[in-house]
Amino acid sequence: MRAGLRKRQLAKILNNEEETLAFGQSLAQGLKKGSVLALYGDLGAGKTTLVKGIVSALTGIEVKEVVSPTFTYLQLYEYAPLICHFDLYRMKTAAQFIEMGFLDYLGEEGICLIEWPERIANLLPAHTVRVELVYANEKARGVYVS
Ligand code: ADP
Ligand code: MG
Repeated sequence: MRAGLRKRQLAKILNNEEETLAFGQSLAQGLKKGSVLALYGDLGAGKTTLVKGIVSALTGIEVKEVVSPTFTYLQLYEYAPLICHFDLYRMKTAAQFIEMGFLDYLGEEGICLIEWPERIANLLPAHTVRVELVYANEKARGVYVS
């Protein structure tokens, strides 16, 4: 089991990209100010696809307009509540996250969607919801929520 994950339960099999987008849309219904979603899974597992579904459901922005902030770490969507999409793949340490002034975003004001949350494992709030996407085959993914 991946470090930092509690007991995990298979929530769903996502048979294709469309089902992952739709699952993101359904997850979006449960998000509110202060929610933190930690998105685990290898490169290509579908984390960004899930974020596309969530952000498009919350904002009305088109799926294709939602892209991962791989080089900048953070993409903000200035909606109410503020949506903070982090991609920490290239981040080296949790200290860097703090130095960049990102800690405030984990507070109560926004909704945080975090790809590569392993990088800031010790900074994640206790109420973080963990979602793990597991590659099954070219099209299918398992999704676990804990
Ligand atoms: P990550 O952010 O985890 O690196 P992406 O969402 O950027 O992953 O990429 C997932 C890739 O896998 C996309 O090219 C997408 O078209 C493809 N794909 C195939 N099946 C699925 C699925 N069931 N869910 C999500 N993506 C899928
Ligand atoms: Mg990604």
